[in-house]
Amino acid sequence: MSVWDEVVGQPRVVEVLQRAAMNPATLAHAWLFTGPPGSGRSVAARALAAALLCDLNTSEANTSEASATQFSTSNASTGATNSGTQPPGCGVCNACRTVHAGAHPDVTTLATDKVTMGIDEVRSLVGLAARTPVSGKYRIIIIEDADRMLEKTTNVLLKPIEEPPPHVIWMLCAPSPADVLPTIQSRCRAVTLQVPPLQAVADVIVQRDGVDPATALAAARQAQCHVGIARRLARDPGARQRRSSVFDTVLRIGSAGQAVLAAETLVKVAKEEAEASSNDRNAAEEAELRRVLGLEPQGTVPSALRTQFKQLAEGQARRAKRANNDVLDRTLLDVMSLYRDVLVLQYHASARVDLINGDDPVGRNAAEVIARHSIPAETLERLDAVTTARKRIAANVPPLLAIEALCATIYPKARR
Ligand SMILES: [Zn+2]
Repeated sequence: MSVWDEVVGQPRVVEVLQRAAMNPATLAHAWLFTGPPGSGRSVAARALAAALLCDLNTSEANTSEASATQFSTSNASTGATNSGTQPPGCGVCNACRTVHAGAHPDVTTLATDKVTMGIDEVRSLVGLAARTPVSGKYRIIIIEDADRMLEKTTNVLLKPIEEPPPHVIWMLCAPSPADVLPTIQSRCRAVTLQVPPLQAVADVIVQRDGVDPATALAAARQAQCHVGIARRLARDPGARQRRSSVFDTVLRIGSAGQAVLAAETLVKVAKEEAEASSNDRNAAEEAELRRVLGLEPQGTVPSALRTQFKQLAEGQARRAKRANNDVLDRTLLDVMSLYRDVLVLQYHASARVDLINGDDPVGRNAAEVIARHSIPAETLERLDAVTTARKRIAANVPPLLAIEALCATIYPKARR
């Protein structure tokens, strides 16, 4: 499987990145990947990083006009193995696999667990950029949350991004170009990812995880095309159950006391889901790192390799902290999907518009009951309340407080 298969439902982006990887003479040294959560910004950045360092990406292939032209006519979207020239990013060479496992010495990824990214973290990256790459090809720095940099932090990056040493590639990721300063935007080559199509997300789950097509499609719809979430929902019955319990909790809010309890339950469910999904991902990453380093799945790690495992563990710990808030935000998106379904039912539009939770009996029932006992104006008010709660949590308000305020808005009219 090539690294491009990970970039789901973005054929045009894949084509642009593959062409870039094959033409070092015109390669941009600063990239800005934007797209909604789940569209795969950092996945796309990592695929480009792997392709640049891929063993197939020899200087010969780089300068060969023929190979670039030949490839551009093949099918980039499916990643089908072309009989002629294979684009770099094979997914099987040592470089591709170490980049994928987050263990390549020339690829540094910065993600923050804080609301804003520290200026010292960014300064240390600038220092790192000055060092010669181990592979002799490129040193690649991926900043996953470029939107979380304050202006003074961004300023530290301006010069390094404008005049990088020839071996350095910066890759910044943000939800939209407007989330980074214009001075950064203008220095970067923009790559815009879209929400992948429903069917593309379902197909990738069927192919990669061997899930049956109906479950895959339901999961993709419930995850609203967020690839990572859809895969979890498709593979893990526990994740589906936790999601259903969110609807049940919201449905049962019938008094102020219940609103407080419901808030506690929602925060607890999100925490459980965050832990379960981190454990899943951490285990997969460790297994991949072991495979890359040629270690037995359960064997002891030789001392020479311990640093790599330590780095992995540190990155995972940092991610776990922010995973809580991310999952809580997903929980709120699930609540939004419920009220969106309620609105579809209230406007009698379900014949034309699919219910997001139509395949989940608990979610469907909750939507039907709430639709019967409220009017569209109330539903819109509740949708607003969910948006407010999401904004508050993003602004670092303690999650339980924000969710309590939300549940208090939901309750008085829930069972009118
Ligand atoms: Zn490769």
